[in-house]
Amino acid sequence: MRYSYATYLECSVTGERSNIGTLQGLSAAGKPLLARYDLEALRREVGRELIEARAPGLWRWRELLPVTAPDHIVSLGEIETPLIALTNSPRPDGFPPPVVKDEGRLPTGSFKARGLCLAVSMAKSFGVRRLAIPTNGNAGAAMAAYAARAGIEAYCFCPDDTPETNLSEIALQGATVWRVNGLINDCARLVQAGRDRYGWFDVSTLKEPYRIEGKKTMGLELAIQRRWRLPDVVFYPTGGGTGLIGMWKGWQELLTLGWIEGPLPRLVAVQSTGCAPIVRAFDEGATHARPWENAHTIASGIRVPGALGDFLILRALRETGGFAIAVPDEDIERARQQAGEKDGLLLCPEGAATYAAYLKAAARGQVSPSDEVVLYNCASGLKYPMPQVTAHMDVNRPFADSAPGFSAA
Ligand SMILES: *Cc1c(COP(=O)(O)O)cnc(C)c1O
Repeated sequence: MRYSYATYLECSVTGERSNIGTLQGLSAAGKPLLARYDLEALRREVGRELIEARAPGLWRWRELLPVTAPDHIVSLGEIETPLIALTNSPRPDGFPPPVVKDEGRLPTGSFKARGLCLAVSMAKSFGVRRLAIPTNGNAGAAMAAYAARAGIEAYCFCPDDTPETNLSEIALQGATVWRVNGLINDCARLVQAGRDRYGWFDVSTLKEPYRIEGKKTMGLELAIQRRWRLPDVVFYPTGGGTGLIGMWKGWQELLTLGWIEGPLPRLVAVQSTGCAPIVRAFDEGATHARPWENAHTIASGIRVPGALGDFLILRALRETGGFAIAVPDEDIERARQQAGEKDGLLLCPEGAATYAAYLKAAARGQVSPSDEVVLYNCASGLKYPMPQVTAHMDVNRPFADSAPGFSAA
């Protein structure tokens, strides 16, 4: 039995192979590289019972990850995230409660920890000294944390309207962080521009092959948590698409291993109407997405005007029989409030977008009452701006006429 069954990297467009034993960015064709595994051998030598017998969490999947030895692992406690049904929040008549996979419980409060845990572990194993990333906030926070732990320098470039909490947590975790007067794609250009001069490794979404491997564990985990039976539909808030592509990749690996049976869940890409390049491309039947102009949404994690892996996202949606759907920010805010008020689950705006999209899709008949639905909440709601509380009580004049919120017993 090997520690990892990773064998080579493959260009997602040309299929050209490259060595997984050295540090890699994009393929020779300038496209994302995907890690491939010796699934034949894995199937022979490792049963799913062995995985089940291990402690829950990201590292129970080590055979399906590219890290080749335990001492390369940089860990902050990557737990298995819970599934929580929205039992009390509004839903259409006759529909069962949708279930939220709450990724906000991970280190640094977002699922970006899964990807950056892998990317930093691989960087450490290759002796990388410096990392840089363009980030809407959560990826930078996760990179900063894991890099700090690994003793690697971290540089983060954030659009200037990135949530304050993200900027502060990045700085507190030892990284150098800048606000940039542009969007995430502009930040990506800066990372590229500084690469030769500063010698950092570019950890941008899909520009290296390791983050997606960490993100795929989100899908593997869903399978094992549900006793190897996947749900019918999965709603995923889609920015760069690493999670969506990663889950799809992970499920295909499980299919090949014979650990799950098809069909795979229908994948639904959720975006905001203020930035919906994937929805537009899906509806047009296009294979690539045109960049979105003047992108804006409160769901900063999905404010991504152009994604390098757009063609992989669109392929995943079509091959699983899923779709793409956009919801306005007002619906996102309402959904966030409802899940908080009725179910005590403080979703991030991106997670709330999946709940809003689910309600919209149900109303349109795109999901039916017999469908089992899982929504991904990708970060802790605590990382985002929240409504201000203005009610004030005078201790000398309590319960005065003006005090809101009381009704007599
Ligand atoms: C990054 C992020 C997303 C988008 O994830 P991708 O896998 O890059 O599409 C969604 N929500 C939150 C909270 C994020 O931080």
